[in-house]
Amino acid sequence: MEDSFFDPYLISHIPHLLKKMKNRPLIIPIFIPQEGCHHRCVYCDQPTISGVSQTSWNPSSIRAHVGNYLDNCSRYPVQVAFYGGSFTLLPETRQRLFLEPVQEFLKQGLVHSLRLSTRPDAIEASNLRFLQAMGVKTIELGAQSLCDQVLKAAARGHSSREVCDAALQVQQFGFEMGLQLMPGLPRDSREIFLSTVDKSIALSPSFVRLYPTVVISSTPLEHLYRQGRYRPLSLTQAVAWCKEAKQRFAAAGIPVIRMGLQPSVTLEQPGRIVAGPYHPAFGQLVLSSIWSDRISPALKKASLQSQRLRIHAASQQLADIRGHRNDNIKKWLAELNLTSLETVASDQGVEEGFQVTVG
Ligand code: SF4
Repeated sequence: MEDSFFDPYLISHIPHLLKKMKNRPLIIPIFIPQEGCHHRCVYCDQPTISGVSQTSWNPSSIRAHVGNYLDNCSRYPVQVAFYGGSFTLLPETRQRLFLEPVQEFLKQGLVHSLRLSTRPDAIEASNLRFLQAMGVKTIELGAQSLCDQVLKAAARGHSSREVCDAALQVQQFGFEMGLQLMPGLPRDSREIFLSTVDKSIALSPSFVRLYPTVVISSTPLEHLYRQGRYRPLSLTQAVAWCKEAKQRFAAAGIPVIRMGLQPSVTLEQPGRIVAGPYHPAFGQLVLSSIWSDRISPALKKASLQSQRLRIHAASQQLADIRGHRNDNIKKWLAELNLTSLETVASDQGVEEGFQVTVG
């Protein structure tokens, strides 16, 4: 005999989530750490975070870099992304140096759009017009927080008002606007961060990235940490905060496209991360915790009928359902006293939801 338990929350989100996945572009990253930036936010050491220690880009190296990606990948649409700097603070000649080599790829239809990240206080109408003309489609704003006391403590040099104004202006020009947030900055709290999440939702970003604050060596934040004036989030706290945020954004139809810093050789060098909730699979920790909450009641109910259970879900969800190093599976086996718990790829019928069967 078989019994099934469906997850109504996820099933109701299937059309939206599938549409998002189909539209996910191939990103060709070009790292320009701290280019254009005259600030020193307390947590920032861009070369370490991005794994790129200097930018020696020139038109031919940009063309070669993009061409190389296009030769080796076949996913569409394709977006070239300038990450790590404050792009709109660069002089226009320098902006041209980055954008012009890609124009030929755009004309040929090999690259479909461009993306860049910048500071919220570096948005001006004249520059937005220029970026539009150069094929930029997406602008990510390093908001980090929408609480002024947190922004001040992080030495961001801008206010939450400037984030809101910039977000509005970028959208009015027709760009796709993304927000980057950093839970766990000095003077942040769970309540303040969740209020930042709610204020971010009100700005209707096209997507969000969550980077829980970690203490990188040789930053002002390391100094504060060593003096006992800053205590980072634990990994458990950071997962819990991001989990709540991810669910609030999902309910508002806003994708969270990254959680946690991208692992890199530079970042993972001994001594580079001094403290804080860094984990190379941070996003998976959050997603598997969400799956655990959703599937646990169905497993518990099914375990009253059998000690042998199966979870059916779309193949791309199985790793997150099992959890990092099978942590969810191990937990369910122990807590529910199961003799076996299989995960089965069922690409028909369950899509982004799941089904538990017994027997
Ligand atoms: S504005 Fe960006 S690049 Fe500049 S110091 Fe702050 S986080 Fe780093």
